[in-house]
Amino acid sequence: MRKLPNIIITGTPGTGKSAHSERLVELMPKMAYVSINKYIKDYSLEDGFDEERQSTMVDEDKLVDLITPDLEEGGRIIDWHVCDIFPESLIDLVVVLRASTTRLFDRLKDRNYPQKKFIDNMDSEIMEIILNDARESYDPEIVIELYSNDNDDLESNCQRIEGWAKQWIIDNDEGTD
Ligand code: ADP
Ligand code: MN
Repeated sequence: MRKLPNIIITGTPGTGKSAHSERLVELMPKMAYVSINKYIKDYSLEDGFDEERQSTMVDEDKLVDLITPDLEEGGRIIDWHVCDIFPESLIDLVVVLRASTTRLFDRLKDRNYPQKKFIDNMDSEIMEIILNDARESYDPEIVIELYSNDNDDLESNCQRIEGWAKQWIIDNDEGTD
């Protein structure tokens, strides 16, 4: 039985997942921030390197096995660009962050990614890949799309998510399986 919701913060790299997650745990100290990038390193879940995509491959089955007990406890804020591997019954809200082409361009430039990775990420955002993944994998009613272009967006998004979480806690005060 979980008394706190599990929230996925997803989106193309550079849309603001980590910035939002950090602000959310400030606003909601009872929630725990799970940066999947860090989790992968901590539990050695790397599974080779994809030269084509210039990115580390991940043992996703092992990741899901390891994280499921945490999700069963509830109160997790999951920060990752992949959203569609987690057990649907354990996820209460999926926030898909979006950024304008110009903002994302500037943020990704700062990361000095290889050119192909840079272009792939820009394309992914324009083609709404992660938004579509989220809508295909979860009940569309729990998937929300939020813009993350400036600091005002960040603050209002986090307050909105906090408000949603408070309501979830009231609605599920007996706990939910
Ligand atoms: P992600 O975790 O999705 O890859 P980050 O949270 O690391 O993205 O954000 C990438 C960069 O953009 C960081 O420097 C962050 O501070 C900045 N950023 C992200 N979202 C916003 C926003 N809404 N307003 C201002 N800066 C932002
Ligand atoms: Mn991040």
